[in-house]
Amino acid sequence: MKKILIGTHNKGKFKEIAYLLSRKIKKISPQSLKIKSPKETGKTFNANSRLKAKYFSKYVNYPVISDDSGLCIKSLKNKPGIYSARLAKTKGSFRKAMSYILNKLKKKQSRSAFFISSLSIKYPRKRIITVMGKVNGTISKKILGNKGFGYDPIFIPKNYKITYGQMTQSKKVLIDHRFLAFKKLKKKIKIL
Ligand code: IMP
Repeated sequence: MKKILIGTHNKGKFKEIAYLLSRKIKKISPQSLKIKSPKETGKTFNANSRLKAKYFSKYVNYPVISDDSGLCIKSLKNKPGIYSARLAKTKGSFRKAMSYILNKLKKKQSRSAFFISSLSIKYPRKRIITVMGKVNGTISKKILGNKGFGYDPIFIPKNYKITYGQMTQSKKVLIDHRFLAFKKLKKKIKIL
């Protein structure tokens, strides 16, 4: 059976990427190989996604897929952006980070936001391929829903009335930013 390493320690991301990949491919986690995550020193989603693919591919002789993603809020100068995971760490939890964002937005007129996913795939001895997916939307007034992960309960994607956190996983996974990136990747790499 073909194998792929899904280069993330984030359980929510792992689940989504695993769901999108062919059932014929065995999905391996870094935890199962006792590999830690690299430092995210890049200044862009693409730089961090590529850095992760390169780093994890040093440990295995089969393909690696990695994602760097985050929530960008227009009235907050597109923050937290690449610092989305780090904001939750600084605040103590995602719930606290979401409350912090909701508080900040009370004084702002615009609640426009977008989610970005940069997906990279690296085959042994081949160069890295990187694609991006973006979903526009708005930030809800309250934390709504308990499904998904991360900032899901405050993001309402465009053309919907509910947050990612109120959607079933099978719904969210087929409309979100990671899915849009994955679709682009699939056009380039048929076997996924
Ligand atoms: P990183 O890519 O490991 O730096 O982490 C990205 C962070 O962005 C995650 O920890 C989440 O907080 C957030 N994020 C990325 N994608 C999603 C999503 O689909 N839903 C909710 N939060 C997300």
